[in-house]
Amino acid sequence: MPLVHPAHTTMDCAGCGARAKHALPLSQRTYTCTACGVSRSRDKNSAHVMLVRAGLYPGGAQGVRPDRPQGEQAA
Ligand SMILES: [Zn+2]
Repeated sequence: MPLVHPAHTTMDCAGCGARAKHALPLSQRTYTCTACGVSRSRDKNSAHVMLVRAGLYPGGAQGVRPDRPQGEQAA
C-alpha cells in the first residue's frame, strides 16, 4: 500500500502546489509551473511533491507558508 498517492505528481508544482492543466509529455524533462514560474527537473519536482504529500517536507506546497524562503529556486 503506497503511503503517497502517485496521481498527478508530475503535474503538481512542488513550489506552490498548483496543478498543471496537462501532464507533461515524457519527452519533456523540465517541469515549469505556470502559476509561480518555477522550473526544475520533472523528476525532482514529482519527488518533491511526494515528499510533501508524505508530510516529510512541511515547508512545501499546500500554501501554508506563502512567504517561505525559496530553496533551490533563487529569486
Ligand atoms: Zn508553482
